Amino acid sequence: MRIATFDQRAVIVTDEGLIDVADASAGRFSSSTDDLVGRLDELGEWFAASGVEPTWDLDPDVVARDPRLGPVVSRPSQIFGIGLNYRRHAIEMGMTPPTTPLVFTKFASSLAGATASVTLPSTHTDWEAELVVVIGARARHVAARDALRYVAGYCVGQDFSDRDLQMSGTPPQFSLGKSHENFSPIGPWLTTPDECANPDDLRITCDVNDVRYQDSSTEDMVTNVAGLIAYLSSVCEIRAGDVIFTGSPAGVGQGHTPPVFLTPGDVVTSTILGLGSLRNVTSNATR
Ligand code: ZN
Repeated sequence: MRIATFDQRAVIVTDEGLIDVADASAGRFSSSTDDLVGRLDELGEWFAASGVEPTWDLDPDVVARDPRLGPVVSRPSQIFGIGLNYRRHAIEMGMTPPTTPLVFTKFASSLAGATASVTLPSTHTDWEAELVVVIGARARHVAARDALRYVAGYCVGQDFSDRDLQMSGTPPQFSLGKSHENFSPIGPWLTTPDECANPDDLRITCDVNDVRYQDSSTEDMVTNVAGLIAYLSSVCEIRAGDVIFTGSPAGVGQGHTPPVFLTPGDVVTSTILGLGSLRNVTSNATR
């Protein structure tokens, strides 16, 4: 099953069109994906038995480019970001892959939909295509072997990063430079685990205009999805709707010689095979 926020309503995305969850279920289920991510098994059972017709007769490929798409969840209690979590990316940044996950946050006000436009806050704004995990149940101290049971679904994320702000002090700080307006698009929809059997073997790419800068697989992760959930839950309670940006593969602008950064009018396309694409256009470098 695929769930999205479309025109501020929770919808199920099918090949035949979009189904408005609250309307089609006569109010049994909420119109907010934030309320649904903890109930996706129940929603899926209802949907399989319901035989409802699409509310909007829209092809998913068309939906994925629609400005009415919102973030797949908008009120997480926590957003975790993971730094340097791909081996080849750690090397391109001049670092050794961390032995303990490097954790920061992207503040929730930076969440955006798959087609959000991004105002560039500096001339050193970078791209980071990422696999995003949305949590479906509350837990602490989850063992890695059980961790994927707590996943509501997977989607594509783009961890836009203002390297000027990130590197402006000593030591560098990650969270603010990754939290400008619309710096955290997630989508285009949430795909439930039954349709994404192995999160550790997904092709992930990022194109800027017509140039493919990132082309990797989640199998290059230092700590895989299950390991990240286990590690994070050993410290923090994870809750339904929480979001994990799992890190970005090699090929970010900062990693190039010389470095390459976004300029106004660039089109950033972040794709994970089987999960969809984000398409974000940049504008207005202001300093
Ligand atoms: Zn990142």
